[in-house]
Amino acid sequence: MQEVAQADMKILIDSLTERPRDLNETIPASEWDMSSSYLDFVDTITIEASVSKAQKVVHLEAQAYFTEKIICGRCLQEIIRPLQRAYTFDMTEYDANGYLDISSLIREELLLEYPIKTLCAADCKGICPVCGVNLNLEKCTCSKKEE
Ligand SMILES: [Zn+2]
Ligand SMILES: [Zn+2]
Repeated sequence: MQEVAQADMKILIDSLTERPRDLNETIPASEWDMSSSYLDFVDTITIEASVSKAQKVVHLEAQAYFTEKIICGRCLQEIIRPLQRAYTFDMTEYDANGYLDISSLIREELLLEYPIKTLCAADCKGICPVCGVNLNLEKCTCSKKEE
C-alpha cells in the first residue's frame, strides 16, 4: 500500500520504518518568520522529503525549493531569485517529544549556511563611491583617484 504523502511535516519518529516515507509540502513563505533576519523568502517554500529509520538512525533526504529576497551586499540592489537546496541528514538524536519537524529542521539548516553577505553575482561591480551609480547597469565617468 502506498503511503499517502501528508501535508504535515511533523512526523512521529516511532512511526518510521526502514521503508522511506515520502512527504511533500508547500507552505507560504510567510510561515517562516524572517523578520529578524537580513534575508527574506517570498512566494512559497516547497519541501520534498523522504524519511526512514533503521536501527536508531533516522535518515532524511530533502529538497527545498524557495525564492529568496535579498539585498546585494555590494550594489545594494534587491534580488529575488529561485533557489534549490538538497539536504541529507542521519540523526541519532532527536527531539525529546518524539517528533521530527522537517520544516523547521530545513529552515534552521538553510539559515545556518546562508552567507552573511550575499551578492547578486560573483562579479558584481558594486556602486561607484563617487557618483553612486550601479556599475552593473551603467558606466560612469568618475576618475579612479578615489580608489
Ligand atoms: Zn550586486
Ligand atoms: Zn561614478
